[in-house]
Order: sequence, then C-alpha cells, then structure tokens
Amino acid sequence: MCGIVGYIGHREAYPIVIKGLKRLEYRGYDSAGVMIYDGDAIKLCKTKGKVVDLEERASKEITTNGTIGIGHTRWATHGVPNDVNSHPHLSNSGDLVIIHNGIIENYAPLKVELIKRGYVFHSDTDTEVLVNLIEEVQKNENIKLGKAVQIALNQVVGAYAIAVFDKKNPNEIVAARLGSPLAIGIGEGEYFIASDASPFIEYTSNAVYLEDGEMAVIRLHKKMKVRKIKDDSLVDPYIQELQMNLEQIEKGGYDHFMLKEIYEQPSVIKDTYRGRLHANEGIIQMAGVEDNLEKFLNADRIIIVACGTSWHAGLVAEYIFEEFARISVEVEYASEFRYRNPIINSNDVVIAISQSGETADTMAAIKLAKENGAFVFGVCNVVGSSISRETHAGAYTHAGPEIGVASTKAFTTQITVLTMIALRLAKAKGTLSLSDFHMYLQELELIPEKVREALETNDRAKEIAATFKDAPNCLYLGRGYNFPVALEGALKLKEISYIHAEGYPAAEMKHGPIALIDEQMPVVVIAPKQGHYDKIVSNIQEIKSRSGRIIAVVTKGDTQVRELADYVIEIPETSDALSPLITTIPLQLLSYHIAVMRECNVDQPRNLAKSVTVE
Ligand code: GLU
Repeated sequence: MCGIVGYIGHREAYPIVIKGLKRLEYRGYDSAGVMIYDGDAIKLCKTKGKVVDLEERASKEITTNGTIGIGHTRWATHGVPNDVNSHPHLSNSGDLVIIHNGIIENYAPLKVELIKRGYVFHSDTDTEVLVNLIEEVQKNENIKLGKAVQIALNQVVGAYAIAVFDKKNPNEIVAARLGSPLAIGIGEGEYFIASDASPFIEYTSNAVYLEDGEMAVIRLHKKMKVRKIKDDSLVDPYIQELQMNLEQIEKGGYDHFMLKEIYEQPSVIKDTYRGRLHANEGIIQMAGVEDNLEKFLNADRIIIVACGTSWHAGLVAEYIFEEFARISVEVEYASEFRYRNPIINSNDVVIAISQSGETADTMAAIKLAKENGAFVFGVCNVVGSSISRETHAGAYTHAGPEIGVASTKAFTTQITVLTMIALRLAKAKGTLSLSDFHMYLQELELIPEKVREALETNDRAKEIAATFKDAPNCLYLGRGYNFPVALEGALKLKEISYIHAEGYPAAEMKHGPIALIDEQMPVVVIAPKQGHYDKIVSNIQEIKSRSGRIIAVVTKGDTQVRELADYVIEIPETSDALSPLITTIPLQLLSYHIAVMRECNVDQPRNLAKSVTVE
C-alpha cells in the first residue's frame, strides 16, 4: 500500500530517502515522514500530505547530514491521515523507530496488554503497537534488535514490510516482510531498503527481494543476514541483477497499472477480510457494523447509493443482502437519488460506496440521507476521505491505491466488504442456516486462491481479444448475481477500449438487444454452473440461432456451453453468490487486452478521471 525507504551507508541519507519517497508516491500517500540519525540523536519529521509537504517542513527541521535514515509515505489503514498517525513511529523510550507498510490484525489485544504494562500511545495506528511490542520484548529479554523484532513478529498476525532502527545500536537496520513487498539494494559499503527498487536504481543494480516470512539484519560493513522469522533458520539470499527501468519498477514489472491492479486482487481481497473474517471460528467482525448492529437489524430497508463501478458492486450487494439477510435493498445512482426527491425514512440504512471517497454525487446523496434522518454507512477505499468522514460509520476496503482509472480491485474488494456485512447480518437475524453461514465463510476465505486461478485465463483472454479487437459493438449478458458483472464487463470495455458495449440481464435480451445480433456481434455470456445455468444455456442457444459469436465464461469442466460457444474461458467453481468475484476477472483481462491491442491509453482513458469530484 504505502512506500517505505531506508538507507545505511556513507552517503547523506536525507536526499536519498526523500527522492525515494517521491518515487514511491505512486503507491499512494496521505502523509509522509522521515527519520535521520545524526550520529547522536534521532531527527524526526512527519506530516499529513505529500512528500513535497514533508520536504518543505523537513528543510527546517532536518538539518543533519547523517548517513542512516528511513522514510515512509503512508496510505492509512488504521487512524485518519494526520501528523501524529504518520510514520515513522517511535517506541515509548524513544530509542526504536519503525516504518511499516501493511496491517497488524491483532493490534487491539496487543495494545490493551501493552497499556496494562504502562505503555502510552500517541497515535491510532497499528504500527505504534508493533514498535512498542518490539521494545517490550527487547526490554524483557535484554536482546539485540534483530532478535526482538523476530520474537515480536511471531506474536503478530497480519501483513507487513517494516524497517526498524535502534538508537542504542545505531549501525544497523532490521527489515522484515510478510505479505507486503520489500527490496534491499546492495551497494559498496551501503544498503538501501525500499518497497520496490525504484528508490535505489541509480545507486546499485544488485537487489535482494525478501520472501514472505523473512527478515534481514542489515549492518554497516557486514554481510547482510537473512533469516526465516518463524524458525530462525538462515537463508542464503538470492541477489538479483536489476534490468528494469524506473517506470517498469513502479508498475511492478507489469506494462500498466491496471494489469498490476488486476493481478493484485488475490492479495488485496485477503487484505479486505484480514482481521474481520475468521472462517474456522465462524466469526465475521467489522467494527463499523458491530457498533451499529441494531441500526442494521432494525432497518426497514437498505438504500445503496453509488456511481459507476461502485454502483455495480451495489447491485451485486442487493442480491446478496436480500438472499442472505432478507433485507429489502434499493440501489440508486447517487446522481439521480440526490435530485429526485426520494423517500428516505429514519429507519432506512443508506450504504454509500465510493473507491476514492470523494465522489461528488455520492457525497451529496449522503448529505440528503442524513438530513432525512437515515443512518449512513460508507464503503470506501481511501482512509480519511470526505465520504469516510461524512458518514456515521463505515468499512474500508483496504485495496491499496488504485491508479488505473478503470476500477478493478476496487470492485472486487467492495463486493467482499458488502458480502461480509450481509453475512454478519444474516447471522444476527438467523436468515441463513448455520451450515450455509459456515459454508460461505469458508468459501470467502478460498476466494483469493480462486481469483489467482482465474487470473490464469490471461492467455486465453488475450487470444480472444485478438479476434474481437476490431468489433464496433459488444454485448455482455448475465443472470442473477452475474447480471451486474455483465454491466461491469461492458463498462470496462467501453472505458478503456472505446468499443461500444452493453450489459444486459440475459433474459432481457429478447426485449430489444437481440435485434443487434448478427455474425459480427460478439456476445460475452457469463454462464457459471451455479445459478440459472439452464436458463442461460437457452439464451446462448438463442444467440447461436442468430449467428452471434459467443464468448462464454464457464465453470471448469463445463461441456454443455462449450458445445454452443465459439470461445470459452474456464474459471474455478464457487457458490453462485460469490461467483461475481471470480467471473469478473476474465472480463477485466479481456477488456485490458483489447484496449492494449487497440493502442489505447489503458491507465488514463480519454475523458475520464479517477475520482469524479464534480457532479
Ligand atoms: N497500518 C499502517 C497505518 O495505518 C500502515 C499503512 C500503510 O501501509 O501505509 O499507519
């Protein structure tokens, strides 16, 4: 999510760290901070805002040419973006300094324990808990930083890339990773630490990418030691020779941010349910929902307001809420809702969905709902965004920054959050049998792996894209849970490839769009085995009879649709309700490849903005 940078060597650290942070800003930022050790004291400077804001402040506050430093661009997950929550964080003694990218899931019980032991917390972050936990371990065991970090990390559940510095032993930095990337650049008598290699590419092309569960003790003038956090075994790190340029590094080696973000989905969906879903214990817990459970349970209905892709996620949620929790749901375009004098009651719960949390129409819809006494719950990606502040409560999607203008991971993580809410309500209301409830929890936990499998359709999607890249129109059909996926698939194609596309409920086809079908017309049909399979098979037959060219997304092993369709893309099986999280993947890939083949600007399609802050 955020970016971390560290330097230990013979050069002045501050310029390296600041320049590195600028390079990592593409990873998202809401605040930034830097620590330089001047040989005697820790110099710390941090601020809400961009790296240039930090630079301005640091020009007055950091006046040392110390050669050890760490820096951070934050993309908040715990605690709003402000100066205090910015990294680096100090331990209570002031000796340890940490920067952290990721989420510590079990920070709450750890924090309670540390408070009992006399620790004081200044920020709302999970990170400050970790640095104090390390301090507590170090104090009790009287050990060096590396060992203390290792013991502490073995008590931590979550995801992290961290760098920790200890003033008491200032010749080293300890770095570790689990679930968040971390690269270490190895130069002559110097080391660089960063979320990717972009901050150090001009200094060295030798880099070690730590593997998950590894930590490194990086000591000046010593060979770096890499160990497994769990069992302390030494690892012989593989030193890579970097051949990528700056832009390639920022995109993680992918050609476009959109593709990178498509591929991030297995890990960000996990981040979304991290600490909230405990499938084995049958628990779903989201603070914003727990604190307001009565409001949800007493709601006469849920109104979902959103725009664009978020509106599609809302439609999926409508089906899920109604089926799981038996609450009536209406899904509204925020721009229509706000201007049409809607009926809103104080017993309504309004859920506002927005990736950026800044969407102007959604914001106005929220205000209207609040004026009418409704309880408003936000589902946003950007922590501390306007919508997250304006709503009564909410749940973040934790998808990390989305840079590609066409939403991909925002969509699937929104669905994940909304599904969890529906399941939580279903449990409280008893509207799902206990066995179904447990089944869905288990299934949800398997989704990241299935998304990963669905990503293996990439080559197939590319092949199909080559066939259809010049089509002037395209139709997307789906039923039930996959009707909104059809809308989203069509939107993706329109947005980035400029091909006219329509999404329809498959049965509605006969009420109009069928007139468009001829041998030129590609029709993408989402036809997984569950749900209304027989019905959709009939729809496919109808298209076939009119010489339409059928691209079908089917469950692995399907034979019936295969016989009818011109092209099939196979995805792993999952329950009907969760299938949108899987079926949407090949559609994202298909539109991506078509857009690339048409030489469109995939990440910044014409006329579109990432965050629509005007109505
Ligand atoms: N969880 C940490 C925080 O909210 C780190 C977030 C990040 O990756 O920037 O401060």
